[in-house]
Amino acid sequence: MSLVDIKSMYLEEIERDFESLSIPKYKAKQVFKWLSKGVESFDEMTDLSIALRNSLKEKYYIASVQIEKKLKSKYDETTKYLFKLNDGELIESVLMKYKHGYSICVSTQIGCKMGCKFCATGLSGFSRDLTASEILSQIQKASADNDIRISNIVLMGMGEPLDNYENVLRFLNIATSVEGINIGMRHISLSTCGVVDKIYSLAEEKLQLTLSISLHAPNDDIRNKLMPINKRYNISELLLACRAYIAKNNRRVSIEYAMIDKVNDSEDCARQLAKLLKDMLCHVNLIPVNSIGTRKNKFEKSKKESIQKFIKVLKYNKIPVTVRRTLGSDISASCGQLKRKGEKYENIC
Ligand code: SAH
Ligand code: SF4
Repeated sequence: MSLVDIKSMYLEEIERDFESLSIPKYKAKQVFKWLSKGVESFDEMTDLSIALRNSLKEKYYIASVQIEKKLKSKYDETTKYLFKLNDGELIESVLMKYKHGYSICVSTQIGCKMGCKFCATGLSGFSRDLTASEILSQIQKASADNDIRISNIVLMGMGEPLDNYENVLRFLNIATSVEGINIGMRHISLSTCGVVDKIYSLAEEKLQLTLSISLHAPNDDIRNKLMPINKRYNISELLLACRAYIAKNNRRVSIEYAMIDKVNDSEDCARQLAKLLKDMLCHVNLIPVNSIGTRKNKFEKSKKESIQKFIKVLKYNKIPVTVRRTLGSDISASCGQLKRKGEKYENIC
């Protein structure tokens, strides 16, 4: 009989299981609390009897990640982790320190199926989805390694969160559970390349998280060349879904726009973008692209002057805009980069 992944279970599910195993229901809460603290074995659950710990070992396992590699930035307090999963697969997370506390960027899949042309993760193919417990473990390991509380989570590491919808939703509910890790849903951001049907599903969940849309282009011609998902759901379908999400949740959506030299950074592109986003409750986040320089597609960062002109047009059109601060620039802190070291091109995301 294969063991069950107990850290991916909701408290109510553990309670139901325990009832069927004739284990007192209140023990489920104790176990859930231990799991939220990040224990990696049942033997660490010291307020449970040894007999109970042994019987739990026969039915369940506790997922964890181990630190394979860790890079600390010399310039700021950013730390990049390469974590090894129980089956030997590798994923990345980035821990960042802000004035308001610690934030972690976690992976949701091993690789990604979406194949965006500028993204190292997208270029490396797809291996498998992460379980809720594997997503949680990244936070717990980074938190324990630094003896800190992490207050903000961004689902912006390797993978497309909405392509792993069930596990990601489970992760969100467990991470925000008041009996467990208890991170505020308002302190979580989820970034998607635009899996439109799942944006509608997420809207129905009425979660107070921040939705980030990786738009990166002001029209379908450019977006089709950069992001294959655009052929499934074009820009107008995507923005319609965003507007529906905003209407349901009354939350400002963040529009991510990677600035790529001579690809999407002209003033005309800025005008088209402003038109698309007119009257939408949103904020544009410009990200100078991290060049991954493959031979086939060479994407370079936009020049400073182009970024300034782009910002000017957006501001003129009353679209709130900022340029993303670069943290950990010396350690390839963009996700997807570390794993690829030693391969043909270095990293990204
Ligand atoms: N799959 C999700 C989340 C992971 S990617 C998504 O695409 O939104 C996280 C962010 O990094 C996305 O906004 C993505 O477009 C961006 N990104 C990927 N490669 C990049 C690069 N080379 N330079 C800058 N941003 C990049
Ligand atoms: Fe996947 Fe996001 Fe990279 Fe696109 S940008 S390939 S969706 S991880």
